[in-house]
Amino acid sequence: MGFPHKSHPKETVVLSQYFGDADARTYKGWTKRGGYEALARALKTDPVAVTDIVKESGLRGRGGAGFPTGLKWSFMPKEKKRPHYLCVNADESEPGTFKDREIMRWTPHALLEGTAIAAHAIRAEVAYIYIRGEFTEPWTIMEQALAEANAAGVFGTIKVYLHRGAGAYICGEETALMNSIEGKRGNPRIKPPFPAAAGLFGLPTTINNVETLAAVPHILTRGAAWYRSLCLSNPKSTGTKLFSVCGHVQRPGNYEVTLGFPLKDLIYDMCGGPPTGRTLKACIPGGSSVPILTREETESCLLDYEGVVERGSMLGSGGVIVFDDSADMVYQIMRLAKFYAHESCAQCTQCREGTAWTTKILERILAGQGKPKDLDLLLDLSENMTGKTICVLSDSCAAPVVSGIKKFRAEFEAYLAGKRQPVMVG
Ligand code: SF4
Repeated sequence: MGFPHKSHPKETVVLSQYFGDADARTYKGWTKRGGYEALARALKTDPVAVTDIVKESGLRGRGGAGFPTGLKWSFMPKEKKRPHYLCVNADESEPGTFKDREIMRWTPHALLEGTAIAAHAIRAEVAYIYIRGEFTEPWTIMEQALAEANAAGVFGTIKVYLHRGAGAYICGEETALMNSIEGKRGNPRIKPPFPAAAGLFGLPTTINNVETLAAVPHILTRGAAWYRSLCLSNPKSTGTKLFSVCGHVQRPGNYEVTLGFPLKDLIYDMCGGPPTGRTLKACIPGGSSVPILTREETESCLLDYEGVVERGSMLGSGGVIVFDDSADMVYQIMRLAKFYAHESCAQCTQCREGTAWTTKILERILAGQGKPKDLDLLLDLSENMTGKTICVLSDSCAAPVVSGIKKFRAEFEAYLAGKRQPVMVG
């Protein structure tokens, strides 16, 4: 990951400004940098006023959906008749995404401060930070930071707990995450009811992503207008975002840019482009769940919520997976489908059967045993897997398959026609 972190001149560093600086990890180091001042002010401010600042800033959820954060907070009941909860989704498991773990590794107090501010804004007495089971180092760092913050008494009456996941991708889905905290199997729940009405333990709950909450202290310190001014294209997409770039680039890693930044500049200027002698073939711009972009779409894409949709994909979690001209797109799509087949919780027939059959059909195409109707079959399967299940894991498996067949059909047909060397997978 190239630490200690040295930012690229084209980056706008807000969240990542202390990446690589071990002193900022400590309570003393964080307060030396102005940390916990925003929380102290927020705790003396009416929760509605805190929510209004975040609404005005334009901050949107960085976990994938891009829902306006302040608006989400405002859905919580105003009449406090029952306990409220905040859940923090630190279960970052989306293939290609590796930024929340860096926030926890380097600026744990930014997350804790943002968590406590959010809990105050939604009138929650308890916040659970649900951390992916494999995150050994971030877990240890968060434990130390929480102990320091508790010893300093910065949270007032708010209780913050860390909860460790067991490594299931599906527990990053908000309702599965709540089931997991409750000690149940991490199966997604049917919505409605939505968490603001009946969430954790059946009580009003808000769920926010790590990166979203880490931005909140900065917004309260520097103001909503400052955050809104961080915008290069569409005024509905404000602030900075961390993009995790991996795959066929010379300098993979996390890069923080203002929303609206050109994807082309991220790949070529900041990440050095594909390896020498190779050319860009495709890109998945928002983690493995979103449609694939061609080279032309990638090179004309602006990295904000609207810009990526205009090119036919989604900003998602900001995991940018780059493929050069050596990539076998059929194989890559099979690997993604196999991942989703493995991670399906199996509640819905379309997902349980669809992800497994998609994988099997792709494997037989790769093995040179594909049938002439396999591409139509895959598209038909994908249609039945989209928009029909309890959660979007099923859709996530279908998206790269549909976009892959549409945009790289010749590669599939080459296997079907026996013009490509079979690849044995199993
Ligand atoms: Fe489980 Fe898949 Fe249904 Fe989601 S879509 S609830 S992962 S079976």
